[in-house]
Amino acid sequence: MDDVFAHIDAHAEDYISLLQRFCHQPSIAAQGVGMQEMAQMVKAELASLGANPELVDTRGGFPVVYGTLAGASNRTLSFYNHYDVQPADPLDEWDSDPWAAEIRDGRIWARGVADNKGNTVARIAAIRACQAVRGELPLNVKFIVEGEEEIGSPHLYNFAEDHPEMCAADACIWEFGGRDIDGRPQIHLGLKGICYVELRAKGARHDWHSSVATSVPNPAWRLVWALSTLKDQNERVLIPGFYDNVEPPTDAELAVLERIPDTERERLDNLGIDGFLQGLSGVELAQRDYFQPTCTISGFLSGYTGQGSKTVLPGTAMAKLDMRLVANQNPHEIYRLLRQHLDEQGFADIETELLGPGFPARTRFDAPIAKVVAETYTELYGQEPVIYPTSAGSGPWYQICSQFGIDACTAGVGHGRSQAHAPNENIYIDDFILGIKHIVAIMDRFAAVQAE
Ligand SMILES: [Zn+2]
Repeated sequence: MDDVFAHIDAHAEDYISLLQRFCHQPSIAAQGVGMQEMAQMVKAELASLGANPELVDTRGGFPVVYGTLAGASNRTLSFYNHYDVQPADPLDEWDSDPWAAEIRDGRIWARGVADNKGNTVARIAAIRACQAVRGELPLNVKFIVEGEEEIGSPHLYNFAEDHPEMCAADACIWEFGGRDIDGRPQIHLGLKGICYVELRAKGARHDWHSSVATSVPNPAWRLVWALSTLKDQNERVLIPGFYDNVEPPTDAELAVLERIPDTERERLDNLGIDGFLQGLSGVELAQRDYFQPTCTISGFLSGYTGQGSKTVLPGTAMAKLDMRLVANQNPHEIYRLLRQHLDEQGFADIETELLGPGFPARTRFDAPIAKVVAETYTELYGQEPVIYPTSAGSGPWYQICSQFGIDACTAGVGHGRSQAHAPNENIYIDDFILGIKHIVAIMDRFAAVQAE
């Protein structure tokens, strides 16, 4: 591997300038800016690797750039990445032009450099270095580079449904990864799911003088009463069946939770609160964070909410409910249980709409790819990675991997202050180069894993 690493060091400038070129091209899915150009740029790079790339139609969305490369072993590793980025605004909070990819203080500063172009280019560079030094790859590689991750991957189900053979792999390296705020490498083995619901109650035709409250129903009360049946004051969700598929952590999972560094004081200070719910801390808190679903009122709107008083009886009330789901919970089933519960509790009049269903996804701790990524992190970064059962974020892990039984794991070039989605997004150049080597090490090690 040393010869490949030496090649990577010798060609670092080439990889950095390729990353800068990627970052110069805006590709904002939310605004439809530069998407064709960026897809073509990714396609051209994959073509130069010999990956026979194609732009795969997603039935209404931006295309997926897909390419494959054959390698020495019959193992196949896929890379899931995305070529879209978040909008760059607020522009005046950037210290340099978000599309200039300026190099300063050992870092590259650009919108998308961490999320997700740095990782996309690191994977391309790793392949290029292997090919240049050895003339072949240790295993088969697939690139799945989508264009809608930042807007919730709305068409990726279509891609996976139309092309299961393109998703097929022995394991997948997820789009993001890197170091935490203290520089420790970290691994995430899944994502929480989500069931996002809007609830609406209606009363009189419009807001009315509140003197009529003697005899006219109040939709705000209706909604409050309905919401109060969803959760008790001990944080227990009361929707029958809600916890049916929630499993407690295994002993092995508990052992992993025990190794997560204690950042409680820092988190509490950040949050500006004195303690966590129910006084939780330590492993109990980690268990709640990573193995328990939530039921959160995210918004509530009704009546008069301006300055001073206005005596009205609201005509409507609306609430947003956000339920974060853990492994094996199905957002569509949870929505059905919520609807059934409201009906049974006498709230058939309350309208509900499922806005954002997302499946949770988990890779087991003893999955070969998790082991390979952890070992190679330890060897290259000089310290053992911190393992998290799931990430706080979400993404299409289920669509691309879990629904096909494919294990996935994170590995990447980001760090705790990469500022993804925010002004002054950045990565360290040293991490970028190390991340390229890490991908080479992962490919080598995973190629040697025996099929189960
Ligand atoms: Zn993102």
